[in-house]
Amino acid sequence: MFIDRNNCFSACILPIFLSYVGFILSSFYSEVSRSEVELFPPGLEKKSVEHAISLRDQALKKSDAFALVESLTTEIGPRLAGTGAEARAREWAVRHLSEMGFDSVVMEPFKIKAWVRGPESAVLTKPSEQGLAVTALGGSVSTSEVGLEAELVVFQSLADLESVADDSLLGKIVYVGHAMRPTQDGSSYGAFVPLRRLGASVAAAKGAIGIVIRSIGTDYHRSPNTGQLNYVEGVRKIPAGALSNPDADQIERLWEKKIPMRMRLVLMSHTREAAESGNVIAEIQGRESPWELVVIGAHLDSWDLGTGAIDDGAGVGITMAAAKLILDAGKRPRRTIRLVLWGAEEQGIHGGKAYLERHRTELRNHMLASESDFGAGLIWQITSKVSDEGQPVIDLMGTLLNPLGIVQGGKDIAVSGPDLYPMINAGLPSFSFRQDGTRYFDVHHTANDTLDKIDSKALDQNVAAYAVFAWLAAETTVNFWSMNEPN
Ligand SMILES: [Zn+2]
Repeated sequence: MFIDRNNCFSACILPIFLSYVGFILSSFYSEVSRSEVELFPPGLEKKSVEHAISLRDQALKKSDAFALVESLTTEIGPRLAGTGAEARAREWAVRHLSEMGFDSVVMEPFKIKAWVRGPESAVLTKPSEQGLAVTALGGSVSTSEVGLEAELVVFQSLADLESVADDSLLGKIVYVGHAMRPTQDGSSYGAFVPLRRLGASVAAAKGAIGIVIRSIGTDYHRSPNTGQLNYVEGVRKIPAGALSNPDADQIERLWEKKIPMRMRLVLMSHTREAAESGNVIAEIQGRESPWELVVIGAHLDSWDLGTGAIDDGAGVGITMAAAKLILDAGKRPRRTIRLVLWGAEEQGIHGGKAYLERHRTELRNHMLASESDFGAGLIWQITSKVSDEGQPVIDLMGTLLNPLGIVQGGKDIAVSGPDLYPMINAGLPSFSFRQDGTRYFDVHHTANDTLDKIDSKALDQNVAAYAVFAWLAAETTVNFWSMNEPN
């Protein structure tokens, strides 16, 4: 348009009028953006939140989680750390993740001392011969083929065992019970698991030659519960096993009747030095700051008695399916989403430790992480410990997941899956989805940990939650680290 410079309307009044219109329009739009900021936490646009809702709803319709657990537990089965089965599970993961089309899929190997179960049996030889359902605790030293035979001395708790004099149990086999009960949050496991971890060293310090404990579990089937023990340095190592709960009841009834007992105990095993394990890592590269990482994952190894369906095939299925859902939706988040399938968790969190060693220099780039390792039950609570700046994003996750029966719990709670503890202890902000654990310890670490215990709809609810978490944490620009946390 031609403007006559001598025309005062064009030269003087029009620019004033246009700048006035511009002022009105810019005021209007800044009003709109201010209200969006009020609705959504800093660093999240409306369309990002809408995408989170769409991911959530897609997962609830049907996710790939159950099919993945079915494939892993059927085609690979048990995945004891450091064995060929665990190596096949890594290959399984690499193959599936590559086929899904992640930007990068890598294996990060490390070495462990691997423990492998051998033949095992427990027999009461007095007052009458009867076989008991027993399993060795992970890491237990081996008996000979013949095993141990000795008088059985009964204690009702680890504290009772600790209270007797040193050398008072010379040549004896010790039985120790406990009072674990089912709890939604799994806290009863935390209360009694020290018996499994430390019982053998306490008994050895009193002179015992072997120990059997009541399974750290809440079922009434005859499938004893294994799990790792820790020998205290400098204390003699004695073989250690767990009896199923019905067998533990039998021992306690005989003891209450003051009937003397003898036990023959065979718990054979061997260890392999420098066995190969590893983590498998896949990424969806971020579009704006790909060096910033949001991690989700689970552990790929399992105990050997069942097929590791709820521990932790479920977590593998949930987090793989959540990452795949985000990938398939075709929108890249600002930050990179990294899926980590850790190796050798059960025998000492080796995968989590190896991951931190390898990635220590980029620890500060890890914005937030969550591991799924509490079975296949519904998520009921979120707990977290993040910066004040990051809290509104966690609150938004709570709002979006509330229709799924998920409520916000403590905002100052640094709990997480086991493989994240090395990073959390080094300062990583923490986030956790708490699953219903009421029936988890009926099956956990037993021969009954098999696929039939998993409800695919409950897995889908978990996938919805992990997809919302990973997407929003990777899409926001806020820093979840507090300024005063260590580097
Ligand atoms: Zn686990």
